[in-house]
Amino acid sequence: MSFAELGLHPIILNSLKACGYDAPTPVQSQAIPAALTGVDLLVSSHTGSGKTAAFMLPSLNRLTVESTVKSNGPRILVLTPTRELAMQVDKATFTYGHKLKKFRVACLVGGMPYPAQLKQLQGPVDVVVATPGRLIDHLERGRIDFRRLEVLVLDEADRMLDMGFIEDIEAIVAKTPASRQTLLFSATLDGVVGTMARKITKDAKRIEFASKPELKANIEQRFMFADNMTHKNKLLDAILRDTDIQQALVFTSTKRSADDLSGLLRDQGFAAHALHGDMNQGQRNRTLKGMHDGRTRVLVATDVAARGLDVAGISHVINFDAPRQAEDYVHRIGRTGRAGRTGTAVTLVNPGERGLMRSIERFTGLRAQIDTIAGLEPKITEERSGKKPHPARRGAKPGGYARPGTGAPKPFGAKPFPGSKPYGGAKPAGFKPRPAGSFQARARAGS
Ligand code: AMP
Repeated sequence: MSFAELGLHPIILNSLKACGYDAPTPVQSQAIPAALTGVDLLVSSHTGSGKTAAFMLPSLNRLTVESTVKSNGPRILVLTPTRELAMQVDKATFTYGHKLKKFRVACLVGGMPYPAQLKQLQGPVDVVVATPGRLIDHLERGRIDFRRLEVLVLDEADRMLDMGFIEDIEAIVAKTPASRQTLLFSATLDGVVGTMARKITKDAKRIEFASKPELKANIEQRFMFADNMTHKNKLLDAILRDTDIQQALVFTSTKRSADDLSGLLRDQGFAAHALHGDMNQGQRNRTLKGMHDGRTRVLVATDVAARGLDVAGISHVINFDAPRQAEDYVHRIGRTGRAGRTGTAVTLVNPGERGLMRSIERFTGLRAQIDTIAGLEPKITEERSGKKPHPARRGAKPGGYARPGTGAPKPFGAKPFPGSKPYGGAKPAGFKPRPAGSFQARARAGS
């Protein structure tokens, strides 16, 4: 199927040419024609599925016809949980609609100065992309008029609810016209998301792609606490020197840190390359080829770029930055242990990321096994001292991998990193010197 077959206006198709997309993704193929009919949608889909275009293209299609309502307010409103996502959606929106006449998009997010945002709202605006808190601020000051609003999009609705935005969302929805079309995108449509969806949509069509990703049994999972970024770099360096590593996929949370970290690793002698959404298709293909033929030993990637990556040689996944969503953790570590092999996943957790680790425990239903590398132990050793332990950790023994609450260790049989020991366990065995044929030595030799 092509984009032209989905029923989009030629101006939108013309804008799309700049993106270089060959064909719609599955979520786009289903959501775009449905949204073009004007019905409400509930779509379960993941980041990286092409969901932004799935809601934005049919919404922008409305802008090819002038509004009959006299107002400068937006015709499309997108709510996102985070500033980063809002900025990403803002950028994509501009690309998807840049051929529209006098096309204007405003991005209203927290942590940014008000004057620039007020300036964006002075003239007529077609699309507002916002985080709920900042939008409420503008609404309370009477800066936005929703009289001509046609589409309300809730992007990553589950995350917005996780972040406690329910009341803000309800207050915003109450100010929008009842005639609006509502498009709700979320990783899950169950639980509180489903309850909210029922309240704010009318006869919505459900489109479901995302099911809870499955945790594979052949992947050994470890967590290591880091005090700060320097400590993380040292841990990563030590892990990458492991002779057992064939190829490693290292995840960072931003494109910039993927670039910076891959540069740092190259300086340290590793055959490392970055993979992220800002690279053009040619660059991505070259990098992927390097992974497939084994020339690249360390791929430093963001979630979006690594989705669907299938390279049998990836023996280790290292979460340099812990994933922001627990579900992404399962996707990330699933990049190893492919083609019937076993794999190892290590997540580095700094003090600010311990909440994310707990979300991963809750999501997977497993207790995190915490390791250290001798000589690189964290100074901040017990994050829960004085606090009630998380239920997932109560009664668990070091070195095991227990179902929450059972305390029963679940052996996974793989051997630890050289010099690593379970957190709080026996005296360090000492740091094993790097053998001649080690991973780094091979990388240096240019293999
Ligand atoms: P999203 O899920 O909207 O965050 O999109 C993830 C990535 O997929 C972004 O880098 C988009 O530019 C890209 N993308 C979206 N739709 C397509 C498509 N039809 N073909 C190729 N790439 C796409």
